[in-house]
Amino acid sequence: MFRIDDPVTVLRSVGPARLGTLRRLSLCTIGDLVNHFPRDYRDRSVITAIRDLEPGIPATVVAEVKKSPDVRIKHKMTITTAEICDNSGVMDITWYNQPFMRNALKPGKYVFSGEPSWFHGRMTMEQPEYEAVTGKELLSGARIVPVYPLTEGISQKMMRMWQKEALDGLPPIEETLPAGLLREYNLMNRDAAIRNIHYPESPAAFNSARRTLAFTELFNLQAALFRARGVVKKREGIRLDDIDISPFTERLGFTFTGAQSKVLAEIQADTCSGYMMNRLIQGDVGSGKTAVAMAAMYMTVKSGRQAALMAPTETLARQHYTYMKELFEPLGISVALLTGSLAAKTKNAVKKDLASGIVDIAVGTHALIVDNVSFAALGLTICDEQHRFGVRQRGALNEKGPAPHVLVMTATPIPRTLALILYGDLDISVIDELPPGRTPIKTNAVTSQYRQRIFNFIKNQTDEGRQAYIVCPVIEENERDLQSVKTYAAGFAAATGLSPAILHGRLKQDEKNAVMEGFSSGDIPVLVATTVIEVGINVPNASIMLIENAERFGLAQLHQLRGRVGRGAAQSYCVLVTDAWNEITKKRMKAMTSTTDGFALSDLDLSIRGPGDFFGTRQHGLPEMRVANLYKDGDILKEAQAAARKYYREIETGDENQELRWLL
Ligand code: ADP
Ligand code: MG
Repeated sequence: MFRIDDPVTVLRSVGPARLGTLRRLSLCTIGDLVNHFPRDYRDRSVITAIRDLEPGIPATVVAEVKKSPDVRIKHKMTITTAEICDNSGVMDITWYNQPFMRNALKPGKYVFSGEPSWFHGRMTMEQPEYEAVTGKELLSGARIVPVYPLTEGISQKMMRMWQKEALDGLPPIEETLPAGLLREYNLMNRDAAIRNIHYPESPAAFNSARRTLAFTELFNLQAALFRARGVVKKREGIRLDDIDISPFTERLGFTFTGAQSKVLAEIQADTCSGYMMNRLIQGDVGSGKTAVAMAAMYMTVKSGRQAALMAPTETLARQHYTYMKELFEPLGISVALLTGSLAAKTKNAVKKDLASGIVDIAVGTHALIVDNVSFAALGLTICDEQHRFGVRQRGALNEKGPAPHVLVMTATPIPRTLALILYGDLDISVIDELPPGRTPIKTNAVTSQYRQRIFNFIKNQTDEGRQAYIVCPVIEENERDLQSVKTYAAGFAAATGLSPAILHGRLKQDEKNAVMEGFSSGDIPVLVATTVIEVGINVPNASIMLIENAERFGLAQLHQLRGRVGRGAAQSYCVLVTDAWNEITKKRMKAMTSTTDGFALSDLDLSIRGPGDFFGTRQHGLPEMRVANLYKDGDILKEAQAAARKYYREIETGDENQELRWLL
């Protein structure tokens, strides 16, 4: 009998030579091996009689090789052919450039799987998979056959053999979920699930095994996230007063959309409940999340508490600060900026005022969460563009006061399934309506041959007083790449007579600030930028977004960039330039030109690239899923999440489920 932590070398057919190869797949122990799941399956459980084969339809036959194969050479190719028969008929099998098949295929009985075709009037199977029928259990035919992720030097045949040997030699695999949970959610035990994921006894057993393993994976992930965040059950919180916000809305100068009002009502219900609010506001770029967040700040301050807003970049923090200061100060609310680039003296003064409570609202960057920042009475924290912050940073801001209310804002249109994982601890509000008066952005995808025409178009727009963004992706912000951006800007200037400003990540913070201020005020007509402008910049007068090398961006990112325009009443345009018209690019460009709905785009992004590549997951550091598919397993995810929530809460409330202690 093997143990789960035995090295793979305990297997008969794995010697020192294979060890290195297996290590490349991170398969060192028997446990690693049996947790290396198939990526696909071939259903070869039906055996077809030779007489019933149909050309083009993959099939499995059990047949006899009467004599050793013939080997011919034709056009410098060795062709190995053998005749096989069962009691219904005769056919040929053929291998190309595999002369060793002559000796490998001894007379006897085999199972062959492949695609038959007519060749010179005979039914033929080219390059079939084969396995000798010896009376031992067959692994590559007459069953549902696993197909494994491999690496060079390992064949499916070997992997199937090792897996079989490992599984047969293992005593029942230990259960990780409580028995009650298995019953409640109708799951297999782990032992049966692992055995059936490799060698399914039936399609039904496979489905059940897959569901069990996906559930387990998602349950564990969710439980780990709950633990990292530490907030699942309702925690008592500060009860804010029922504040009349009309003085604030009057200053805003517009009325909230229905969607904004709905979300604001949800926030009010939370903050007046006596429990802590933990809420995510999800809304497309420009949907008015910030306005709603400011209303929440107003309510907080008028209830005698402070509010803090953390933005992912200094540019964005400054933009929020400028806007909020202008809006709030006439209402008797003081606003301070706290960012890394401030002079030490200024920083210290701000910190002092936050600690004493003179400042009502702090707007800043990560500088807000360093140790020596403290608040007199923090009542609300807001994280803008949350996907840029890790769970831990979000947590650090919330530690700055005893149980402050928490708002998280994101414009990343996260698909529902992913949101459930990433924000499992948060209640979700969606702003699914844009403010009125916006004209939908017109989007075109073109080749670089159109560049001159687009430049002319930009010139016309700026003559009418509008502004434009041009995004040039650079791989690294190094001297050479930035030089190419400068060259591009010079070319643009020569072609249009306009003088663009350049914005990139290597500029000093005060240089960036100066550029952004110039663009916001309208002094700078055109901004040529690397992707630093991606997040949250709000210049309603900008009406053109030109994106060079658009193939280098994912859909989610292109959508974020496009969201920089279309923020005012004027017709806005987004032009995507690319010369790389491969399949994925074509799909993305088509998606971009056909919809401006961020949620639809993010679902498309997931389906085009798969969840592993969705930029949200990588940035969140979610582990790779072995079985669960974040795109397709929404139903299993919901169940796993409900289960994790329930079991976790039982532990937190002392109503202990001992079986789960280890997990949490
Ligand atoms: P988000 O944070 O969701 O990207 P903002 O709150 O920055 O969106 O709003 C984008 C722009 O729309 C801002 O200029 C804001 O003043 C304006 N805006 C927000 N809500 C409304 C509304 N209900 N009616 C008109 N304009 C609005
Ligand atoms: Mg915003």
